[in-house]
Amino acid sequence: MSTTGNNSETKIIDGKKIAAEIRAEAGEEVIELKKENIEPCLAVVLVGNNAASKVYVGSKVRACEEVGIKSIKLDLAADISEDDLLSEIQKLNDDSGVHGILVQLPLPHHINEERVTEAIDPGKDVDGFHPVNVGKLSIGIDCLTPCTPSGIPEMIVRSGIEMSGKHAVVIGRSNIVGKPMMNILVQKGAKANCTVTCCHSGTDHLAEYTRQADILIAAIGVPEFVTAGMVKEGATVIDVGINRVEDPEHSRGYRLVGDVDFEDVKEIAGAITPVPGGVGPMTVAMLMKNTVKAAKMLQHS
Ligand code: NAD
Repeated sequence: MSTTGNNSETKIIDGKKIAAEIRAEAGEEVIELKKENIEPCLAVVLVGNNAASKVYVGSKVRACEEVGIKSIKLDLAADISEDDLLSEIQKLNDDSGVHGILVQLPLPHHINEERVTEAIDPGKDVDGFHPVNVGKLSIGIDCLTPCTPSGIPEMIVRSGIEMSGKHAVVIGRSNIVGKPMMNILVQKGAKANCTVTCCHSGTDHLAEYTRQADILIAAIGVPEFVTAGMVKEGATVIDVGINRVEDPEHSRGYRLVGDVDFEDVKEIAGAITPVPGGVGPMTVAMLMKNTVKAAKMLQHS
């Protein structure tokens, strides 16, 4: 463990608290929309019996209830054909009472995820994965953006940390987190305007880049990969990772850890997100925001 740094001053960013604020704001917007006879509605499509997917879908439906968003849950058999799934999506696209459509990933192997993503109406694509939304984000046109990276500037700014002009280093280049994160951070605006570096599995001398970061975002999927020696003193460290590591002392036989060695890095960071209780709760909160946004966009189209 590092002995340098300013442990006593390190801010632990409370994702649960910020997510609750965001859900409350979404709830206020839902009340306003209902006054105009618009009831925001999210359709969540679950294919098969993946246990983790069921848990994620359950938490999304519960968040809808809390915020006042109507939810429709489609439970489809694991052996549904791709054509049948696409026609279910088309029905949701055509339903003017549905504002957001989310197909829980991963899908069974016989279904092409890309085709399914592209079948969703971009105006209802609350995951922000459709190529139209990916393109709009990259050229700075207001659109639906992926929930996990969208929550991160909210966490940073609401913790009183300036983003504009800062050097943000993202580790990871997935289409779900790393790449949209880069595109969000680089835009002009108070919750962005960063100088952005993206590191990945092909990066040589990774720590040389991460040590330059004012804001370091880890989306790697490797338990406790980022250690204090990779972090600049006073940096803001955002841990997107959710990894299970075996732990016989835990009743479930495992515990959740992030991509950052929290105990080590909190000794040197200026601010840091924990796992659990950091980025995780923000993802569902941003889904609520996106559903409200989709309802407003449809109202004005
Ligand atoms: P992914 O596997 O698609 O991408 C991981 C990225 O990390 C890759 O782009 C790869 O280049 C990079 N990488 C892997 N090993 C590396 C190394 N040794 N050095 C540098 N870069 C390396 O994963 P993902 O979907 O982007 O998810 C990343 C993590 O975030 C996972 O732990 C996942 O569970 C978690 N996640 C959390 C949320 C949330 O809501 N909090 C949402 C999505 C993903």
